[in-house]
Amino acid sequence: MRLGLFGGTFNPIHLGHLRAAVEVREAFNLDRLLLIPSANPPHKRADRVANPEDRLEMVRLAIRGEPTLEACDVELARSGLSYTIETLRYFQDRFGPGPGNAVFFIVGQDAFSEITTWKSYEALFVTAQFIVMTRPGSKPHALEDFIHTRICAEYQYDSTSNRYNHPRLCTICCLNITHLDISATRIREWIKQGRSVRFIVPDAVQDFIHDKGLYR
Ligand code: ATP
Repeated sequence: MRLGLFGGTFNPIHLGHLRAAVEVREAFNLDRLLLIPSANPPHKRADRVANPEDRLEMVRLAIRGEPTLEACDVELARSGLSYTIETLRYFQDRFGPGPGNAVFFIVGQDAFSEITTWKSYEALFVTAQFIVMTRPGSKPHALEDFIHTRICAEYQYDSTSNRYNHPRLCTICCLNITHLDISATRIREWIKQGRSVRFIVPDAVQDFIHDKGLYR
């Protein structure tokens, strides 16, 4: 089982997330790709984040009819702040060991560049492989410098596979994705201003936001 875990606040989920998920799943031949809304994101102000049940529901609505993607409530089932290390350990215990198994944590380069602020970040690199989604044209040296100075200088880049290998730590894979210039922050701002977010979020998500009066 090749399992991809795509965590995020998804406040709300948008087409940038969804397109990225589809491209990662295809490129890495994943058997399952789980979209995992963070219940209590440690880095976001709680008063600006829709409640976790609504964000999970929007993920469910967004992927309806797309059988290769799944919504996952594992972080809603835990209390306290949502730490990625706990989620990775949970899945590593269940799906990590065994021939042909691999657990990948999927993250955009912008979020990855803040990873040293995450709880027990060193442990993340002994728990799961990473897929860092890069933008075509983004500076590869910035990522390489970051990995070498902030994570471990022993990571070695392999240009054939576009990944960083390490003698003991988990591999960090890179993938250039079609980066749609969309952010949840901008979506929330537009909704507050009464502007349409059609064709930026799936229609069902737009309807849900409207019906629930979110982000006004
Ligand atoms: P916000 O604007 O509220 O910070 P966001 O749109 O960046 O939100 P998050 O839920 O914080 O979305 O991001 C979850 C993950 O999705 C992160 O790894 C982030 O790098 C990635 N991501 C965010 N926007 C895009 C996008 N347009 N295309 C691809 N990946 C994205």
